[in-house]
Amino acid sequence: MKLVRFIYKNKIYSGTLDNNEVSFQDSSIGCIPLPHKDIRLLAPVEPSKIVSVGLNYKSHAKELGMKIPDEPVIFLKPPTSVIGPGDAIIYPASAGRVDYEAELAIIIKKTARHVLKKDAQQYILGYTCFNDVTARDLQAKDGEWTRAKSFDTFAPIGPWIETELAPKNLRLQTYLNGQIKQDSRTSEFIFDIPHLIEFITDIMTLLPGDVITTGTPENVGPMCPGDEVVVEIEGIGKLKNYVTNKR
Ligand code: MG
Repeated sequence: MKLVRFIYKNKIYSGTLDNNEVSFQDSSIGCIPLPHKDIRLLAPVEPSKIVSVGLNYKSHAKELGMKIPDEPVIFLKPPTSVIGPGDAIIYPASAGRVDYEAELAIIIKKTARHVLKKDAQQYILGYTCFNDVTARDLQAKDGEWTRAKSFDTFAPIGPWIETELAPKNLRLQTYLNGQIKQDSRTSEFIFDIPHLIEFITDIMTLLPGDVITTGTPENVGPMCPGDEVVVEIEGIGKLKNYVTNKR
């Protein structure tokens, strides 16, 4: 099942997407085909936090010149960085290089604390596409990642939450202006999803709708104002955004 959030006639709804038709949870409205001029998809969740995993593909650690971690490296992105499909990534005036990072995102289903690997699955609502937009020059300059990862619009997510998906070996790609840039598979993870959920929930409580992003593979690269960026994940779909320097 595909879970969506959308605007219809200036009101926000949650619903499902099936056979290119959006169904409203408010059933008095029924189903409307997508695309439809009165419907615009939104980010499928409003997380209290995004917990991101850095360096979860050996190939990406290598290209950044970092050693393979023996436990997950995590950081937070603020909920105010979230944007939905079709929205603009705003290139900050203070950044010298802004990169795409295609990632599989896990959406948390229920409050999770001290979850063991063997129980992790029951805390997962589903999966979606994520672009961990990063001001690469500021990441290097600061030596820690908060500024580089936290600008408003630096967390494109969507287009919907796929609830029926086996995530272990999915192809994940980035296209910049139609040209393929990243192309890998989730089978290349250093730490698998149950491991990440056990590790993170040993530190902090995850709430329904919270997001875990699972790291990006090799071949990250820069985007410029005017570019169109697409993150595509097998079994989910495409998350398309564009870059602008207009606020
Ligand atoms: Mg990342």
